[in-house]
Amino acid sequence: MLETARQFLQQIDNFPISPQLENIIKNSIHALFILHDQLNLAVFPPEVLAQKPLLIFVESQDYAIALPHHKQKLVYILSAQRHFAIACHQQGFPVLNLFTTDSHGAGLADFLQQHPHIQLSYMQPSEWDTRSQMADLAQRYADRVTSIANQFFIADVDQFKSKIKKGYRLETFYRELRKQTGYLMDGKQPLGGKWNYDKENRKSLPKNVSIPAIPAMAADEITQEVIDLVNTYLPQNFGTLQHFNYAVTRDRALHLAQDFITHRLANFGAYEDAIKTGEPFLFHSVLSIYLNNGLLLPQELCEMALAAYQQNLAPLNSVEGFIRQILGWREYIRIYYEAQMPTVRYANYFQFHLALPQLYWDAQTDLYCLHDAVSNVIKHGYSHHIQRLMVLSNFSNLTNTDPQQLNHWFYLAYVDAYEWVELPNVLGMSTFADGGILASKPYVSGGNYINKMSNCCAQCRYDVKAKIGEDACPFNYLYWHFVDRHRDSFAENGRVSLMVNVYDQKSAAEQEAIRDAADNFINALPRQASK
Ligand code: SF4
Repeated sequence: MLETARQFLQQIDNFPISPQLENIIKNSIHALFILHDQLNLAVFPPEVLAQKPLLIFVESQDYAIALPHHKQKLVYILSAQRHFAIACHQQGFPVLNLFTTDSHGAGLADFLQQHPHIQLSYMQPSEWDTRSQMADLAQRYADRVTSIANQFFIADVDQFKSKIKKGYRLETFYRELRKQTGYLMDGKQPLGGKWNYDKENRKSLPKNVSIPAIPAMAADEITQEVIDLVNTYLPQNFGTLQHFNYAVTRDRALHLAQDFITHRLANFGAYEDAIKTGEPFLFHSVLSIYLNNGLLLPQELCEMALAAYQQNLAPLNSVEGFIRQILGWREYIRIYYEAQMPTVRYANYFQFHLALPQLYWDAQTDLYCLHDAVSNVIKHGYSHHIQRLMVLSNFSNLTNTDPQQLNHWFYLAYVDAYEWVELPNVLGMSTFADGGILASKPYVSGGNYINKMSNCCAQCRYDVKAKIGEDACPFNYLYWHFVDRHRDSFAENGRVSLMVNVYDQKSAAEQEAIRDAADNFINALPRQASK
């Protein structure tokens, strides 16, 4: 099978296209462009597939080199797309793998110009820029290009877009989606009597808990080819490739989903906010990578978790926490993106303009929580959500870092990052750059909370209990400095305005020491805008 696959790839990789394929194109009328994050034929309209269209996959050099993406992200996107193209070919679809040095839209425009008999369909891209390119193409070839509504999500954008623009909050949205889908419902009431189990889902990790390993995913020849390609042409990109362990086909992704349900879902809820050094995955599913390029679909993951609950394989707090991440948060931020783009791209509520700290590129820091989080990202193109929020975003906020730079970093550094999901998380949720449209308060904390939820501080050269002094945890004085400087955004929020009062009760000498320590730290922090 692999040998066939390789021959096939050699055939479709060569550009200009082979005579045989040229013949297939000549005899095709209908073509369907499938983007690299739409790798699932199950959501494409049956009437479109019934035409046996020529399936066009684009490898855009422009997209690949726009940022110094993590090497694993590029390998994952390319290898999954190539595997999917082969699977489609094996199902009897004619397939064209189109390589372009330009953008997706420009590559397709050239193709349409060269083949004036072709009618092209495409599913609306989730990311803004590719969608704009396709809209331009559809305008230019109005009688030949047709768009299909994006079917990779559960919620109806039109139903919620204007509400979310006006401040419709996540919790209300999530409950509405529960009612619409019937997931975790007992008639009209939430299953178990509660809509969420957050209070049960903030436990710190017991010392001796055993964490099941994620199954190994050996790279096959196709993935190895892509690894070699990235190593050869983009050696300076972010991250390493040694630990690449992601599924690149639907079958393998389903295997990983089942493994999560069987071995980690039961403990996911209780420990979803915990951090353990050297354990990048803990009980997290690590399935966003496959959800976000279509190998897995949101409904099937929710239904797998529900089935596990019905079979007593996982408690309700875990199943609800997992489903809320998909049905609640993921769906909500996708519509937030639709509602707030493109202006949110430039949001910078606190007007922070300092470049990204150097440590985000090389993990070279003696703040151990940061060292561990960035090391995970370099090694895996991944860290779990609480490291993203409580460590990486928190530190960026506390050090006056430009949220746009943090946004770019998250986008290029994570294998699961597409703009529709990453931008709202960074500019809305974690940095408050949108001024409170998505989140009710800036996400900042001192060292105590990191210490409560992790084992990092025990390995750190700083003292998490110390507030001021050479050994004091920098998160402590940076936090109070932030509260003081941005007291307006705290004072207006009932939940955290208390912190302003606590700061004001500190002595003048202590306040001055906090200011000096924070200013010195921020000014001395090495910074590097981009790799
Ligand atoms: Fe992070 Fe402070 Fe703990 Fe060190 S002491 S690991 S810097 S929170």
